[in-house]
Amino acid sequence: MRKYLFAGNWKMNKTLKETEEYFNKFLKRLSEIDFSDREIMIAPPFTVLAYSKNFIKNTPLKLGAQNSCWEEKGAFTGEISPVMLKELGVEYVILGHSERRHIFGESNELIAKRVEGVYKFELIPILCVGETLEERNKGKTLEVVEKQLLEGLSNIKDIKGDKIVIAYEPVWAIGTGINATPEEAEEVHSFIRERLKNLYSKEISTQIRILYGGSVTPDNIQDLMKKPNIDGVLVGGASLDPEKFFKICNIKV
Ligand code: PEP
Repeated sequence: MRKYLFAGNWKMNKTLKETEEYFNKFLKRLSEIDFSDREIMIAPPFTVLAYSKNFIKNTPLKLGAQNSCWEEKGAFTGEISPVMLKELGVEYVILGHSERRHIFGESNELIAKRVEGVYKFELIPILCVGETLEERNKGKTLEVVEKQLLEGLSNIKDIKGDKIVIAYEPVWAIGTGINATPEEAEEVHSFIRERLKNLYSKEISTQIRILYGGSVTPDNIQDLMKKPNIDGVLVGGASLDPEKFFKICNIKV
């Protein structure tokens, strides 16, 4: 059975002081959450990863990073290696986020290298895929998602279903306050699951968690989580507020 995953992406937000304030508030509510069917991951910026680990080390919370290089070390100025992330207690790495694709020009080929490297060093990649509004309006959603999915996973042949996560994040829904309807999201999630079945096997496709991301809030998560192929959420803006993120993570499914 797949465990739900509630993942927070802080993006380029929070200083040391703000990180401390956040965890002081969030951890106070943690005992109210039943972790038997879910995992909760927070991905702070690199600069506060080690500091965040101090707060969560005796809790069930998981630590995530927002990107990673594929190599262990070397001449890769500005990059961080999977080994360095592991050393800090990181378990998940968000890869191919739409901001990496659209602001920093990361290609499917580059993202596939990152996915491979992270996987090889036994971190769990969260591969993000999703179409722009223009692509959706042209009826190209499934085509775009399929290409990003297949190319992003192209270097992973021998896959363990619980060691990789896919996040469907329509670009038009990220940070806009406009979320995909549960039906729109479920259509893409079930398509992704079907493609994973063809690519690997039925068993593996049923183990892989597929998250929805895009303007998730405590008010709209409940209906999204009713859909059979939505196994959790990747949350940006609302994960920055400890009270809102607590409500999202504590939702009854
Ligand atoms: C994200 O950054 O992955 C995201 C989904 O952002 P938001 O929740 O703010 O739309």
